Order: sequence, then C-alpha cells, then structure tokens
Amino acid sequence: MTFKELNFHQDIQEGLDAMYFEKPTPVQELAIPVIMEGRDIIACAQTGTGKTAAFLLPILNELHKVKKKKIRAIIIAPTRELAQQIDQQFDGFSYFAHVSSQAVYGGGDGNTWTAQSEALKKGTEVIIATPGRLLSFLSLANIDLSGVEYLILDEADRMLDMGFNHDIMRIVDKLPKQRQTLLFSATMPSKIVKLAQSILQNPARVNVAISKPAETICQEAYLAYDKQKAPLVAHILKKMDFDSVIVFSSTKKNISVIQRELKKHGIPSKAMSSDLEQKEREEVMGQFKAKKFTTLVATDIVSRGIDIKGISLVINYDIPSDAEDYIHRIGRTGRNASEGHAITLINDRDQILFFNIEALIDKAIDKLPLPDGLGEAPVYEPEKKRNKPNPNRKKKKFNSNYKGSKPKYNKK
Ligand code: ADP
Ligand code: MG
Repeated sequence: MTFKELNFHQDIQEGLDAMYFEKPTPVQELAIPVIMEGRDIIACAQTGTGKTAAFLLPILNELHKVKKKKIRAIIIAPTRELAQQIDQQFDGFSYFAHVSSQAVYGGGDGNTWTAQSEALKKGTEVIIATPGRLLSFLSLANIDLSGVEYLILDEADRMLDMGFNHDIMRIVDKLPKQRQTLLFSATMPSKIVKLAQSILQNPARVNVAISKPAETICQEAYLAYDKQKAPLVAHILKKMDFDSVIVFSSTKKNISVIQRELKKHGIPSKAMSSDLEQKEREEVMGQFKAKKFTTLVATDIVSRGIDIKGISLVINYDIPSDAEDYIHRIGRTGRNASEGHAITLINDRDQILFFNIEALIDKAIDKLPLPDGLGEAPVYEPEKKRNKPNPNRKKKKFNSNYKGSKPKYNKK
C-alpha cells in the first residue's frame, strides 16, 4: 500500500512527498482509515513503528478541510521532548496545508510562557502539550475549549507510569463530550484498558504489538561484576565501529562513574539526565542528533518515544527493572529497519531481571565472554538467584501476561 491510496488532500500528500514518506507502516495502514471514519481508537504498537504519523495525518487532513480560529485538537504527551518532536513532525506534514500548531510544555523561560499562553488564547488549532503545563494554563486563563474535536493521548502507558492519570482526567473533564478520542500506547497493561474505558466511546482496536524489539537489532550481553562494567564499556567503545552510541544507566550516580572511566581512555562523552536544565537538555540532544559528538551517557529520560536517527549502538550499563523498558531502550537503535546493535551488561544480582526480559521477548540473547584482562565473569544462572532479591531494587513487577515458552540460554 502507498500513502496515495489513503486519499489525503493534495496539500498533505505533498508534505508526505517532501518528507519522503511513501508507504504507511503497519500501524498507520490499520489506524488511519479507522480514524478517518471518525471512530475512537485504541492503538498499540511498539516504539519506532510510526505512531505519530498514524494520528497526525488523519487529523491534519480533517482540520485542513475547514479553517477555524479555535483550539480543535489537543495532543497530550508525557514529556516536553516528545511534545516538541510531535510538533516538529506536524510542521513537516502541514508545510503545504497551513494548520497552526503549538507545543505547550514546562521548563522554558518567560518568552516561551508568553508564546504558549498567546497561542492558547488566540485559538491555535492544534495544541501539543504535557499534562501538567496544559492544566496550569487552563487554571490561569480563560481558554476556550468548546471547539475541541480531537483528543489524542500519545505514549499513554508512559503517562500513567509517570502518574499523570489524574491530570489527564482533569483535562478530559474540561473538553466537549462530543469529540473523537485517540489513544496510542507502546504497551497495553490493564490500567490503560481501564483509562480507555473511561474516556473512549466504542473504540476500534488496532494492535500491532507483540512487545518485541525489531528483528534488525543485534542483541548481545556480557556477564560482568559491577567493578568490571565501566572498563568493559570503554573496551567496547574502543574496539567497535559506530556513528553514535547511547550508554543507558538507571542511576545518575553511575553516569559519572561511566564518564570518568571513558575519559581515562580518551573517549569524550556527554551526559543526559534530569539534573540538566531544560535548556541544557535541548542543547545536548540537538548536538547529539546533529552528530556533533558520538557518545551520550543517559538515564531513562531519553529511552521512550524520542526519535533520534541512526543510533548504531545502545549499551545497557544495567538492566532496567521493568522488562518493557529494555525494549524502549534498545528501540533507540535499528529504527525504521536500519540495523542496530544493543549490548547489555548483567551483574550477578540482575540476572533474574535479564531472564524476565528474555522471557518477554521470547528469545535467548547471546552472552559473550569478557575480553582478556578484565578478570573472571559471573556465571549466568538466573533461576538460582530468583530467591535472592536485591535489597536495593524496587519490587519487580513480573510480566503475568507472558505465555510463551521459556527462553533457552547459553550455559557457559
Ligand atoms: P513511534 O511513535 O511509534 O515510536 P515515530 O512516530 O516516532 O514512532 O516514528 C519513528 C520514525 O519513523 C520517525 O523517524 C518517523 O519519521 C519515521 N516514519 C514513520 N512513519 C514512516 C513512514 N511511513 N515512512 C517513512 N518513515 C516513517
Ligand atoms: Mg511515539
């Protein structure tokens, strides 16, 4: 199928051509016609499958038909980075169609506040907002929401994880009952189904999701004790060929441990964590996207939803405690069928977490021997460690939905 068969207005088709979008991805192919029929939808597809265009294109097509000076679509996203990214994609698609949009998020300066506030007051047609910031505007000024025809929740699972449920419901309460609501999510835990039941009407379901990493990503792992990890990262980076790499760490403390070790080996890197001011975050992300530097050491703040092209390598310095976060992290590489590489470091305590990941993706991941000089590695025997929880970790949610076969793993 090509986009031409979806019969978008010519101005939108031209935007697609200009962005070199030829064929819809599976979630786009399934969701777009349903949205164009006017139905509510709950769509689940893994990260990197093109969910943004799946909701932007049909609403842009509809809004373009008649121009109104009112807020007509509200897109809610979990983070400012994501809101900005959706806005940029909307700018691309609407280049020839001229439907106005504004991203609304916290953390900017006074000028950003004024621009966002003005946009809401004068009735910019598409508002792309983080929940908290949108609510503060709504409580401060008289903003007309009577013309809202569309509500879109993007990365709904992430928003609930971040505790936005209440905020979302408060926003929904202010919107016209007569509207089309679209919910997009990478995963479909029961709390999402609940949320959907309370805000969608007779939704169509689109499911392209078995939570699995793209087949094009080569996944490997090393068993390593904590003290071996930073030297191992330096070793990998020195030995491998790559354009850009993200090293993920669950803790901010380890970010400095990693950076110090890399520095010792003459490998420059930059950090990305919630410690940075909004402005610094944007600067670092901008430089990274523009390939001004190659090595980003980051917490999970960048793992979900953010689209950075051409990451050739992701290194997991530790195992995310939620198995699905592993998929989000390595989803930074191999996007849109380009090849990628993900390497995960497993210490003796985290083995059971990694075992859960292998169960979730229904695949045993190769465990590589440690390079010479780094000493003896732990042995992979996750089942034995199951009864020894790590006191430093939050309680792990086991994936109760998993019904596949147990993964086989290499016994070294
Ligand atoms: P998701 O929200 O599902 O994680 P995105 O919407 O961020 O995924 O899309 C991932 C990447 O794929 C983006 O760079 C986007 O521009 C690109 N993309 C999406 N759909 C298409 C398409 N039909 N053709 C070409 N590129 C696409
Ligand atoms: Mg997305």
